[in-house]
Amino acid sequence: MKRTSESVKETRILEQTLNSLEVRRQAPRSVLILLLVLYFATALTVSLTAGSQKEIIIGSNPVAVYTFAGIFSSLSNLCIIFMVIFCGKAGFIASIIVMALHIPMILMGIFVKGNYTSLPGLFVGVLTVIAIIVIFYNNRKIDKYQLRLREQATTDALTGLPNAFAITELLNELIKHNTPFVAATLDINDFKSINDTMGFDMGNRVLLAVALRLKNIADNGLSGTLDFVGRLNGDEFSLIIRDYKSDDDVEKTIKQYETAITEKINIDGYDFFVAASIGYAFFPTDSADRDSLISYTIAAMKEIKHMSGSEHIQRFSPEMKAEDHIAIDNRVREALENDTVFFNLQPQYDMTHSLRGFEVLARMKDDDGAFISPADFIPAAERLGLIDVLDHTVYWKAAMFFADLLKKSGADIMLSINASVKHMMKSDFIEEIRALLSESGIPAKQLEIEITESILIESAEKAACILRGLKDMGIRIAIDDFGTGYSSLSYLNSFPSDTLKIDKSFIDKMSENTTSEKYVEAIISLAHVMDFEVVAEGVEENGQLETLRGISCDYIQGFIWGRPLSAQDAEALVMG
Ligand code: C2E
Ligand code: CA
Ligand code: CA
Repeated sequence: MKRTSESVKETRILEQTLNSLEVRRQAPRSVLILLLVLYFATALTVSLTAGSQKEIIIGSNPVAVYTFAGIFSSLSNLCIIFMVIFCGKAGFIASIIVMALHIPMILMGIFVKGNYTSLPGLFVGVLTVIAIIVIFYNNRKIDKYQLRLREQATTDALTGLPNAFAITELLNELIKHNTPFVAATLDINDFKSINDTMGFDMGNRVLLAVALRLKNIADNGLSGTLDFVGRLNGDEFSLIIRDYKSDDDVEKTIKQYETAITEKINIDGYDFFVAASIGYAFFPTDSADRDSLISYTIAAMKEIKHMSGSEHIQRFSPEMKAEDHIAIDNRVREALENDTVFFNLQPQYDMTHSLRGFEVLARMKDDDGAFISPADFIPAAERLGLIDVLDHTVYWKAAMFFADLLKKSGADIMLSINASVKHMMKSDFIEEIRALLSESGIPAKQLEIEITESILIESAEKAACILRGLKDMGIRIAIDDFGTGYSSLSYLNSFPSDTLKIDKSFIDKMSENTTSEKYVEAIISLAHVMDFEVVAEGVEENGQLETLRGISCDYIQGFIWGRPLSAQDAEALVMG
């Protein structure tokens, strides 16, 4: 029984939350009662004043009392109209009942008592009824539209589950009411490989199948606790658990979700076996703050994902890195606010050791002056939705420096900048780059934009369109980290690009065995057939350099010939 009342409570909380999204809200019942009382009071006044022969003195003029009847009559009609506008269906029913009583009374006055002075009143009454009906049906249309908007705003389009916005709102409500709960983040293991091998459509259908299994448990109360399931993004789901008696209850519930997912999923005759990693944390024990709590669940989820054992569920413990997560988020915000983000330039050379140009690498320091790795702060900026601000800052600082260097040295060298796909997909990316070129004066053919291969393919169509726009401006496009993602040259054919950057991991493997060397050789020759220039990244050793020379690599970038340099050192290098 308790579960039912709790379910009602949950619905109510979510309903309250969703209501706050509505533009037109319904007035509370007390307003309807007040309007009804006002209506009857004014209607009574009308009937008392309408037939009165008395006069009152206003100023020094006598005014007939019955002349006030019109005012009160208008007021009573106004009450009726307000009921329909502000009190929804109840207001509509109340106003129809009132009018159904009112109009026959006027008719009786006219036809039985021969009181023809009420004829205008009858006319106004009929008009009011028409107004009531028109307003009511109009409101219904608006309500339906709002309902649709509300659903769209809170529902994930692919799975039909509540989306990240709805999850956040529910968390806010629970935290506001201090209701103990467990938040869990569930991430499907190696989901990318399903997308890679079977395509996005199939990937989406697997996600939908997973979502339905989660929803089935939550909606039918199969776990014994009160659960809410939503989709955070991509292959991440969120689980909010309440009404548990012990930590054991929580573990059992989470285990049930985990098991449900691992059962075979069959789509169009294909069998999929998916597994998920789940991290969870308790409110308020682990944290009373929403964002920390969620980052704790993610930290726990990542921790278990990185462990190679058979366990897939992990509770947050303070040793985990979530604090670092929050710390780095704050660092990124501060660095952008205080404009302390800067850049290094790593030289790229052709095989004769002549300078091709520089890759711009973002840099950030912590309070003690130690460097923070871009591998940490770039993902943080992406998570915070600040990557475009960060990129923008780095681009402008580097471009202004580079333009000046070109002027001073007259060198014919390239500047390569990194673009996160999240940034590139923003509608004004092309305009941003156009402005960068025109304000700095760097010739378009001397600017190269590096985009990571794997992420490109996830939004292939739009990406290809943006890249075409950039190429039309005369800018070069480099596919970065080639070999870490799809490693498919045929994919690259669909992207208008000029340069292929082979990832360091491939270069490293070259010295380990001849197969890897042959593989890199094949990539280079195919790339040449497709008219790509090839840059080998992360070259550290002489052996690697010689091998790359032997297999016709065009350029190298690596510690062997140049580490990332400060702007000053890069200038010294160019000026000789
Ligand atoms: P990336 O684009 O692949 O950049 C090359 C990374 O490899 C740089 O690391 C560079 O320092 C390192 N590297 C180059 N040669 C060698 C070598 O011989 N040995 C070793 N061990 N490492 C080498 P860094 O600076 O830590 O950058 C990491 C990643 O951060 C970059 O990888 C890039 O994806 C991202 N990143 C850096 N700056 C920006 C930026 O301004 N915007 C965006 N969106 N991403 C950036
Ligand atoms: Ca790069
Ligand atoms: Ca790279």
